[in-house]
Amino acid sequence: MNYTFSKITTSFFCFAFMLIGAFLVIASLLALTMPYPIFFPLIIFLIGFFLLYTSWKTYKKAFKLISDLQEKNYQWYKKTYPDNVNGNHINCFVCGNDRVSTKALKNRTFHREHFCMQCGKTLYYSREFD
Ligand SMILES: [Zn+2]
Repeated sequence: MNYTFSKITTSFFCFAFMLIGAFLVIASLLALTMPYPIFFPLIIFLIGFFLLYTSWKTYKKAFKLISDLQEKNYQWYKKTYPDNVNGNHINCFVCGNDRVSTKALKNRTFHREHFCMQCGKTLYYSREFD
């Protein structure tokens, strides 16, 4: 998963879009044309801004998930919530329920999510091939 590279390329693309839009807005302002030619470059600028904003939000979520996958494992859960781990028995740290289920995460993350069956809270992650 190389999100950093795709974040840089996406950002570059969006910045280019915004730059072209901004340039056209200034150009049409300098040319003192009618309001309607400004409208079009403004749309280009706003599309670039919108793409940048949504892609950054997506990447932020992806980076958060990656750091969670690496950090929040079974050992982490045991250390963070010692009261909720008794030998091989695990309780949910939110509601105390002991029914924990797993599901495979998609998008080639190769990790499983362990979650509480009562409240749905994610407790920790584990690698798929361990
Ligand atoms: Zn729970």
